[in-house]
Amino acid sequence: MNRRRFMQTALAGAPALALPWLPTKTVAQMMVGGGTLTTVSDGYLALPRSFVIGDLSEDDAVPIIEEAGYSMEDFRSPCNLAVWQKDDMTVLFDAGSGPDFMPSAGTLWDSLDAAGLTPDDITHVLMTHGHPDHIWGIIDDFDEPTFYSAQHFMGGREHDYWMDPNTINTIGEARQSFAAGALRRLDIIGSDMALFGDGDEVVPGITAVATPGHTPGHMAFRIADGGQTALVVGDAIGNGHLALARPEWVSPADQDGATGITTRMTLLEELSASGETMVGFHLPEGGIGKIASVAEGYTFTPA
Ligand SMILES: [Zn+2]
Repeated sequence: MNRRRFMQTALAGAPALALPWLPTKTVAQMMVGGGTLTTVSDGYLALPRSFVIGDLSEDDAVPIIEEAGYSMEDFRSPCNLAVWQKDDMTVLFDAGSGPDFMPSAGTLWDSLDAAGLTPDDITHVLMTHGHPDHIWGIIDDFDEPTFYSAQHFMGGREHDYWMDPNTINTIGEARQSFAAGALRRLDIIGSDMALFGDGDEVVPGITAVATPGHTPGHMAFRIADGGQTALVVGDAIGNGHLALARPEWVSPADQDGATGITTRMTLLEELSASGETMVGFHLPEGGIGKIASVAEGYTFTPA
C-alpha cells in the first residue's frame, strides 16, 4: 500500500470526517460533441464582506448581490471544477483548493468519487490560473502530485508570474500567502508542468484563450468537438452577481481591475452573441450554462 492508496482508503473509510452540509457531488453535466462535460464540486469559499465588495459602495453593491440570491451575512462562493471526458482522455480543469486553504473547500475527491472517478483516472490537468482555490489541490497531504497519472499544463505567462520569487513582494499583503502557496506547489511539480500560450491547442480539442486581469496570465479553454463548443472561463467571469449585473465595475477579486473589466466585458459580449455554452468556476448550480444580455448587464442561465 503506497501513501496515495493509504490516503484513498483512509478517506473512503472515514465518511464521518466529511462535513455533512458540504456539497459533495457532480453538480452539472452535458454532452458536448463526442464527449461529456461535467462539473464536480470542490465545496465553496466563505468570503468576508471586504473581499466581496472591496472599494465599491456598499449601498450600490449589496442590493445587487442580495438580489442575485447571495447572503452577505454568510457569503458562499461555490467552486466548480470542469471535467471533460472523451475516449481515453479525462481532462480536469484546475486542481481545487486541497486540504489547506479553507475548511469549506477541498471536497474534490468526494465529488470525483461520486462521479465514478479517482485521482488516478485524470489524464490531464489544465490550470486557468494560480490562485489557491484553483492550484493548491495540485499536491496532496504528502507533498506529492495529487493527480499522479496526469500531465500538467499551465499558461507560460501565469507560470512565470507565480514562479518569480519577487511576486511575493509585489502582489500586496492580502495575497502574500497566495504567492508563497503557488510557488511551493509549482516547485514540487517542477519541469513536469508543460507550458502553453494563447491560441495553443493544449490537448486535442482544447484550445487556450488568454483572458488576463484576474491574474496576469489567466487562461480560459475552449473545448471544440464535433461542431459543438464550450468555453471554460475560470475566474475571468468570477461570480454570479456583480460580474454579471455590473461587469463594468472593478472586481475586488481581480489583481488588475481595469484589464479584468476589459476581459470580462469582451467575454460576456461574445458569449451572449454566440450562445456558446460556458463553464464558470464560481457560478451557481454547477456553473455550466449560457449568458444572455439584459437591459443592464447580463444573466447566467444554468444548463
Ligand atoms: Zn482566482
